[in-house]
Amino acid sequence: MKKLTGIGVSPGIVIGEAFVHAEDDVPEIPRYAIRKHQVEAQWKRLLTAFGKAVEEVSSLQEQAEREVSREQADIFGAHLLMLEDPDFQSQIRERLESELENIEWVVWDISREMTQKLLGSPDAYLRDRAVDIADVSHRLLQHLLSVRRFSLSELTEDVILVVHDLLPSDVLTMNRERVKGIVMDMGGRTSHTAILARAFGIPAVLGLSSATKEITNGDGLVVNGAFGEVVVNPGEKVLGRYKQAAGQFRKMENELFALRDLPAETPDGHRVTLNANIELPEEAEQVLRYGAEGIGLYRSEFLFFTPGQGADEERQYRAYARVLKMMGDKPVTIRTVDVGGDKIVPAFGTGDEKNPLLGWRAIRFSLSLPELFKTQLRAILRASTEGNVRIMFPMISGIEELEQALGIWHEARDECRRHKVVFADHIEVGTMIEIPSAAMTADILSGRSDFFSIGTNDLLQYTLAVDRGNEKVNYLAQPFHPAMLRLLRIIIDAAHARGIRAAMCGELAGDPLATVLLLGLGLDEFSMAASAIPLVKRIIRRADFDGSRALAEKALGCGTYGEVNALLKTWMTEHFPPE
Ligand code: PEP
Ligand code: MG
Repeated sequence: MKKLTGIGVSPGIVIGEAFVHAEDDVPEIPRYAIRKHQVEAQWKRLLTAFGKAVEEVSSLQEQAEREVSREQADIFGAHLLMLEDPDFQSQIRERLESELENIEWVVWDISREMTQKLLGSPDAYLRDRAVDIADVSHRLLQHLLSVRRFSLSELTEDVILVVHDLLPSDVLTMNRERVKGIVMDMGGRTSHTAILARAFGIPAVLGLSSATKEITNGDGLVVNGAFGEVVVNPGEKVLGRYKQAAGQFRKMENELFALRDLPAETPDGHRVTLNANIELPEEAEQVLRYGAEGIGLYRSEFLFFTPGQGADEERQYRAYARVLKMMGDKPVTIRTVDVGGDKIVPAFGTGDEKNPLLGWRAIRFSLSLPELFKTQLRAILRASTEGNVRIMFPMISGIEELEQALGIWHEARDECRRHKVVFADHIEVGTMIEIPSAAMTADILSGRSDFFSIGTNDLLQYTLAVDRGNEKVNYLAQPFHPAMLRLLRIIIDAAHARGIRAAMCGELAGDPLATVLLLGLGLDEFSMAASAIPLVKRIIRRADFDGSRALAEKALGCGTYGEVNALLKTWMTEHFPPE
């Protein structure tokens, strides 16, 4: 038995048999020298392969649009752009002429160079994009070498898929009825595989580095997609434990359906709202499945991350309208783009700074490019008639910045009116509180905000000076640090003093240990990964509000995060004794 640890990207516990999908279904690439007069013949073969690949990808694009989503169709759209990119082709032509080697080798060599460059990037998003280059060149090579592409759609038995990497086209075409779990060497939270696994509800652990080497076909596996654990050939005792945990998970999922339509209300009648966070429109379906009352954070910047695609007004409009329509009258909070920091978009020139986390990101970026900002606001306004939209601005540091953002919002509305664009009468505009200076001036910001949404991921990062992506200092990222608790109190009280709602969309909102504390501090809206909602709701329905308030007071009196932690753990064991 051995245990591998990776990144849990899609929750759920699954037990099953490993199917190790060959790392590379393209055989060894032949390499041989060619003569000058053979260049044209080699080139012709490549053009034929390009033609076939374009045909295939176009049909995958249509299938994605029909069966999955516009966003997934866009991924294949990006592959088509790559296939039709004259630069890509001329790079191959130049190499073919200068190196005088066979075309398969040239294609393979160029794609290897490109993917390695991307994989070496410090930016997780760019690393994840290497998979798109790999997808396109594999397709070309398969046509050049006349090998049939093994399709995961041919799976006929239940398996846990173990792969080095999955191409977006594999995920789309695989037999989703049969793939019970995904275990992958590559990938992070923003990779397409992670996003699709979550969207399809398949437990998945990614970023395991060498799972395909450690696991062989037919091995018994346990995958815990919430904690990022993969156990290979577990012994009876361990298997029993996981079977029990899987049973509990299923039981909880069933209870979840019983809870789905019940309010998030304490036994003594205090009601709060549970919303979900999304990154892509297709997640809205899952949001409804888990009984979210709305979307508390739609990270709109993900629209700008689709390879080869700009997010023009039309594309943004379509995405927003789709989410709004799916959510009906439930509120959808679109956060204006938060690029920069660790979310680098090279096309925008972000990421070229010494301290990107303290640099040109989020609202600072939008305010310095007002036309781009207005494009987004117009797209939101146009979509607003499709449902119940709210907007909020990320990384506001003080009132001047908020006033400036509101100024552009009003300009966008005036422009729409002038152009006779119909939009919703009243759209709430909120402020994200995720910088200590905003927290400390929350009483001022509340005068110009319809609601607050606390971004605890950044608030923690900036309050404790802990880079949220740096594992060396991760131990310091303590959300129960007394400084955090005091800031939360200031923010929530400032909102209530002005009669506006205090929401939270950082990870802390979905942390079950924090639920009773946040409830006691008076938080009105919790927004989290949809799959975290049931557990948080269950806790709220068992926590009495007066008791929670007393507990929050006690926590605020603690001098260390360790004491707060202990206090909350004791509360949990008292209210949810182990069965
Ligand atoms: C946060 O900072 O808590 C937040 C919700 O925003 P993001 O994680 O996208 O920075
Ligand atoms: Mg943030």
